[in-house]
Amino acid sequence: MTDPIIDLQSENEKLKLENATKSDLISISAHQLRTSLSAMKWILKMFLDGDFGALNAEQLNFMKKAFESDERMIRLVNEMLSINHAEDTLESMHMEAVDVVKLLDEVVFDFTGESYKKGIQLIFLKPDHTLKSIVVDSEKMRVVFQNLIENAIKYSNKGGRVFVNVTEKADSIEISVRDTGIGIEDADKSHIFGKFFRADNAKKQDVVGSGLGLFTTARIVEKHNGKIWFESKTGEGTTFFVTIPSSQTSTK
Ligand code: ADP
Repeated sequence: MTDPIIDLQSENEKLKLENATKSDLISISAHQLRTSLSAMKWILKMFLDGDFGALNAEQLNFMKKAFESDERMIRLVNEMLSINHAEDTLESMHMEAVDVVKLLDEVVFDFTGESYKKGIQLIFLKPDHTLKSIVVDSEKMRVVFQNLIENAIKYSNKGGRVFVNVTEKADSIEISVRDTGIGIEDADKSHIFGKFFRADNAKKQDVVGSGLGLFTTARIVEKHNGKIWFESKTGEGTTFFVTIPSSQTSTK
């Protein structure tokens, strides 16, 4: 009779290998895509800069559109690569004591340009006292905050506001990202954390998106034994909440 434990172990090894092959394939294709897209981008840029002679207004307009579309594709491929990497490394967690306010401050700072460009106010409501540091994988938590803030900006319109908040609860640290954007339809709410899901109102709003950001975000939060949820009203806005349990907090 075969040993069921050995059977399971070898099945597990096989799955791990298949998974690694799959993510290698994604990585190779994404890198190749990015190389071709970047080559196209520089050729388009040369046309736009008039290196091959002056373009008329109509040609310039189409070249601009092609250039922007190419840039959007590059961003999408970059997102695919970083998510693939995050999935790949989800198994290995590098836990350390992290100052969550400092980490949020850095991420908010990284998005100031983006929000300014879109005419959206990005506000970090910093706590008035020092919070305990939390024990997390800082780079993965950074991905969580980046995804939530990026979405809040992406799914808001000019004149909108995004508030980032962090509070200490009895047994957890709670981070929230609130926007005054397009909101999420009731019918879409149960699908939001699913792989590749994009709501119709989001697709209309912004053509760039993979529907992988929140899927990865939820997996990272889960890995930290935390919780993620949201409240939303169509046309009024959305708030995403993340809590990390205090069993994972430590004083510095
Ligand atoms: P995407 O790459 O499409 O932004 P995500 O996984 O990050 O993918 O989000 C999945 C979907 O959830 C989005 O396409 C959008 O429909 C919805 N969503 C996420 N964040 C927000 C938000 N702040 N406001 C409205 N809809 C949102």
